[in-house]
Amino acid sequence: MNEFELIRGYFSGLGATRDDVCLGIGDDAAVLAPAPGRELVITSDTLIAGRHFPVDTAAADIGWKSLAVNLSDLAAMGADPQWFLLALSLPEADADWLAGYARGLSALAQQHGLALVGGDTTRGPLSITITALGSVPAGTALRRDGAQVGDVVCVTGTLGDAALALQLGSAAEAPLRARLDRPEPHVAAGLALRGLATAAIDLSDGLFADLGHICAASGVGAELELERLPASDALRSHYPSPLSRLPYVSAGDDYELCVCLPPSAVDRAAAALDLPLTVIGRISAEPGLRLRDGDGALLSLPSAGYVHF
Ligand code: ADP
Ligand code: MG
Repeated sequence: MNEFELIRGYFSGLGATRDDVCLGIGDDAAVLAPAPGRELVITSDTLIAGRHFPVDTAAADIGWKSLAVNLSDLAAMGADPQWFLLALSLPEADADWLAGYARGLSALAQQHGLALVGGDTTRGPLSITITALGSVPAGTALRRDGAQVGDVVCVTGTLGDAALALQLGSAAEAPLRARLDRPEPHVAAGLALRGLATAAIDLSDGLFADLGHICAASGVGAELELERLPASDALRSHYPSPLSRLPYVSAGDDYELCVCLPPSAVDRAAAALDLPLTVIGRISAEPGLRLRDGDGALLSLPSAGYVHF
């Protein structure tokens, strides 16, 4: 199959059908119609085999995850997802792999109403770059630079499951493995937090690395409590003590949201979300992150999250 058969066969018409796509796949570029009064929110993430997913990952899971990591970034901005582009580098045009990849990609795109509107296809080592676009009412994006001293620091869901699944490999049970292969981007939570959170980030690189970005951008620090870091039953059964879980809860690839909220907004935020929201600490004036155990003693932080260079 040539490049054009590949695009027509697997990617044309993938995802939701949307009225705001004036021209999708097939021309030199797509033409989109953003609604008046809204700002575009755009993000791009690359997945490389062996670096961002184990080489034996099923094609459908790669399809899902390649969009999920981008949707998680849109969620962390409080954006409504709308469109995406796919730049695919493939060693060969393998029909089974492409069908699986497109199936996983399509499932998540349909779930969140995104249309695939273009991309690029080249031969090379397996590498996938997706650019996702969404929008917010002008001025309402959730940013990293708004955290205030006295804000409460919260995270959604549980932390550390992706790292545990990676460590267990084929021994991980299906629901745990799904935390690694099929992360659920918290799009609805991001929308619900618009107008409530002062700052937000998605946890891709790890809690301390990512919260560190909020603190640096906002010119503040944070005090965190080890015993509050939320862990699943699966992680607790493998690592019963909070200290033994620390390398996992801070490892990244969980795609939970970390948000800062004025104390008065925490109950409203928790009620508005369809997933657990756990208070893990407070924003402080003193720069840097500090983690305390149950006795209030300072713990040293595990080395920073995932860094490429
Ligand atoms: P051009 O040579 O003008 O850049 P291409 O041959 O790269 O055009 O692409 C033809 C059309 O197919 C364009 O609309 C492009 O956006 C789309 N396209 C190419 N690769 C992909 C892909 N992997 N997924 C989705 N659309 C793609
Ligand atoms: Mg092209």
